[in-house]
Amino acid sequence: MFYGGDWHASASGATFATVDPASARTLANVADADQIDLDAAISAAAAAAPGWAATSPRQRGEIAMELGRRVLEHAEDFGWIDTLDNGSPISAMVADAKKGAGAFMEMGGLALQTKGETIPIGGGRLAFTTLQPFGLVARIIAFNHPTLFACARLAPALVAGNAVILKPSGLAPLGALALAEIAADLLPTGVLSILTGGGGLGALIVGDPRIRRLSFTGSVATGLKVLRGAAESGVIKTITLELGGKNPIVVLPDADLDRAADAVVRGMNFTRVQGQSCGSTSRLLVHESIHRELVKRVVDKVGAIRIGMPSNSDVQMGSMISKSAQIETLGFIDRAIAQGGELLIGGHAPSDPALAEGAFVLPTVIDNVRPDSELAMEEVFGPVLAVMSWRDELEAVRLANDTRYALTASIWTRDIDRAFVLADAIEAGYIWINDVETRFPSVPFGGWKDSGSGLENGTAELLSFTRTKAVNLTYAGSA
Ligand code: NAD
Repeated sequence: MFYGGDWHASASGATFATVDPASARTLANVADADQIDLDAAISAAAAAAPGWAATSPRQRGEIAMELGRRVLEHAEDFGWIDTLDNGSPISAMVADAKKGAGAFMEMGGLALQTKGETIPIGGGRLAFTTLQPFGLVARIIAFNHPTLFACARLAPALVAGNAVILKPSGLAPLGALALAEIAADLLPTGVLSILTGGGGLGALIVGDPRIRRLSFTGSVATGLKVLRGAAESGVIKTITLELGGKNPIVVLPDADLDRAADAVVRGMNFTRVQGQSCGSTSRLLVHESIHRELVKRVVDKVGAIRIGMPSNSDVQMGSMISKSAQIETLGFIDRAIAQGGELLIGGHAPSDPALAEGAFVLPTVIDNVRPDSELAMEEVFGPVLAVMSWRDELEAVRLANDTRYALTASIWTRDIDRAFVLADAIEAGYIWINDVETRFPSVPFGGWKDSGSGLENGTAELLSFTRTKAVNLTYAGSA
């Protein structure tokens, strides 16, 4: 692990294995941090924080830009590391690294936006606000975009002037460690820590009263643990939660069916991450009049997806993150069928013996899913699309909003009035009209309801790593 400007084994000597899920081979044994390591990292970070906060935003912005350039220069290396560590195709993981580079560059460009405002209050008084960093920030991230998340979640907290402790997922820790390697000489000692471990380390970080600003990306269940653990630390913490989704893609009868079918497949993220994306539109809500035709086109397109070893540059869909994720996904499929769902394609692991050791699941479409069944309600975080149909728009909105989640939604129609009415009515933090999947770096992204609280991306995320101080000034005399 990396902290205090140097590489360390864990104080206890403990390690855990990180595995290539496509082949079940162990890639590396990684330091397993505990309280002693966390204490050392916090001491180093706390010592570095005031000096880092005192640098100019411009200087921090320039460092972020340089980090972005370095990530871009090594995008192929990061791509290979992530492909091996999390099973997603090489083409997707190189693209991820490039997006991570972009995140550093964009945050570098926004550095001068960490500014306050002046507020006239009359009567010989003036108020102004300044934005100051928290000092110490911890970020805990999920496995699905190892390098991209490490870059994109570090950039705003660092540029805002904080020392950051990042805990990558124990399932795919290597991208973040590689990032520390290229960042080490750029950042003052102690400003960056990459601590490796599993949920136990996450809980120690969350429960530590010295860390008052936390940002967490992961499942709802763990998000609730984070809230509980933070409360038990005995101090008040500022917490961003980026959690799961069971996102609807709503297709109206007038939609361009071919474009909509493409979007249904793309939005599911079958390719690139095997459905393992919080923003996946995993519930297709289609008007009954076009149900049969749209689903037929979707199934044709899903059948053409090339699944295989992720290191092969032609492959579009690789392995899920672990054998247990594969088993969990297959369990969802079996229960959905038992609850009346109609399996149209996929539903099991591929038969290719070359993939037998991996955690592969074929892209799966299940039609006529009952709205109150598990597959309609719960996030699979795997390649399973649930299809439901509706008769009138009220029913479509009710279905769209009828889960605990509210992260993304996609609406397909050529009638812009209907699109706006639905966009107003659907509960979600991020909506596409006649688009899907793409996340624009400057547009705020965050969940409603159990999908989370707080925002990522752009100025919103940058400023969320600052605290506002209002200074009220009274002056005497007259001109
Ligand atoms: P997870 O909740 O199992 O783990 C996320 C991180 O939390 C990991 O680093 C893990 O080690 C750590 N952790 C585990 N237990 C902890 C605890 N008690 N205290 C603190 N940290 C703990 O999630 P995952 O399987 O890595 O990722 C999948 C989930 O993440 C899905 O639900 C997905 O939708 C969500 N996700 C959300 C976003 C978003 O932006 N909204 C992005 C990616 C993933």
